[in-house]
Amino acid sequence: MSLLPIIIVPDPVLKEVAKPIENITDAIKQQSLDMVETMYNAPGIGLAANQIGKLNRMFVMDVNYRKNDQSRDAITMINPEIIWRSDEMSIMEEGCLSIPQQYAEVERPKIVRVKYLNLNGAFQEMEGEGLTSHCIQHELDHLNGVLFIDYLSRLKRNMILRKVDKMQKEENIL
Ligand code: ZN
Repeated sequence: MSLLPIIIVPDPVLKEVAKPIENITDAIKQQSLDMVETMYNAPGIGLAANQIGKLNRMFVMDVNYRKNDQSRDAITMINPEIIWRSDEMSIMEEGCLSIPQQYAEVERPKIVRVKYLNLNGAFQEMEGEGLTSHCIQHELDHLNGVLFIDYLSRLKRNMILRKVDKMQKEENIL
């Protein structure tokens, strides 16, 4: 396994739509392992292919990670599709490894049902509520070139982008 560099805004690859995965090859399995390792190392609870510069439809997540470091139980979703959304909405604070140290409240359906392929090529379904629901939708958005800041006002979005830009420049100087 190897750690992959995480792509930061405003890199255009974060605005691209990722393509479906046709075959679950060894390279795809390796990508999943690398993404899981990169996610835990960040640390984060989700990571999508665009964020490591790959435009294929895969994301990894483990929403329990922060609660208990011992239980590493990451899920890899390939070609995920949301097949049902609740009418009830939920507002949660979200962050993103590609938008470091910036957080904002985002409103999304409270419960979603997602269909995806696992690493063995089998169809799976999962229902997620609350944090899990937000995470699934946030990661799936990445595969469609959408970021959580796209749900904010232009003013707020530009403020966040400027902060990240300033932080990146400061890091480069040091
Ligand atoms: Zn993200």
